[in-house]
Amino acid sequence: TITVEFDGEPRIFTVSNQKGGVGKTTTTVNLASALAELGARVLVVDLDPQGNASTALSVEHTADTASIYDVLINDLPFGDIVQQSPESPNLLCAPSTIHLAGAEIELVSQVAREFRLRRALETYLQEHPADFVIIDCPPSLGLLTINAFTAASEVLIPIQCEYYALEGLSQLLGNIQMIQKHLNPELALSTILLTMYDARTRLAQQVADEVRAHFPQQVLDAVIPRSVRVSEAPSFGQSVIAYDGTSAGAIAYREAAVEIAQRGPQSAQNKGA
Ligand code: ADP
Ligand code: MG
Repeated sequence: TITVEFDGEPRIFTVSNQKGGVGKTTTTVNLASALAELGARVLVVDLDPQGNASTALSVEHTADTASIYDVLINDLPFGDIVQQSPESPNLLCAPSTIHLAGAEIELVSQVAREFRLRRALETYLQEHPADFVIIDCPPSLGLLTINAFTAASEVLIPIQCEYYALEGLSQLLGNIQMIQKHLNPELALSTILLTMYDARTRLAQQVADEVRAHFPQQVLDAVIPRSVRVSEAPSFGQSVIAYDGTSAGAIAYREAAVEIAQRGPQSAQNKGA
């Protein structure tokens, strides 16, 4: 067994990639579960109106559930929306509901609209210490994603090992630099995770090699394989760790969690990438 010590400041990750379907939510949920299993206290913030992370963690997120929408728009204290996932007492989730779809527009007229999540989270974390906060973002650069970027200290980019993987990445890096310059100088691209890797294709290997060549510091050694078990788990309201803990996907996410925990926040020092 691996022991990892957790102490001090929470590490706040935003899982970002402006492409949809690249594994943001899957990575959020499974890393969170794997980190919780290691003994870390983990809070998932579901910032996607689709609510897929809330579904996968089996937390209530019907239309009338108190949610991240109420925190961002109605000033509800963050602690009032946090639920515990049945998966682990260490695994908490701030759910999203369908109302969040309107928040993109409603945020525009709010005071400190880029910092609403950051402020609410800071207050909450003072009383409820966490080792990791992982924010699942929608696939667009709107105010929700900007709120995630200002609340976070680290960006985690999941990259699908397919042909167009690198397309759009320079735009994402540009956005991160813009956020660093204007809104959050503490933000760093600390972690890249290769996902949906199909070892049978030469293309997947080529994409992986290319990403590693560009980002030698950030890319984790662990690679998440394409696996049916990973894609099935959410329909059972579970992470793959809980759904099939001995599957290749579960093992890979556990390895990724250990790497992230062992690297520590210092890996986030290489800013700008
Ligand atoms: P995003 O949040 O970036 O839109 P998702 O995490 O929802 O992406 O993943 C998109 C789809 O791909 C989902 O149906 C998910 O179950 C599936 N998927 C994600 N990772 C894997 C994997 N390693 N193996 C197989 N299917 C995966
Ligand atoms: Mg998603």
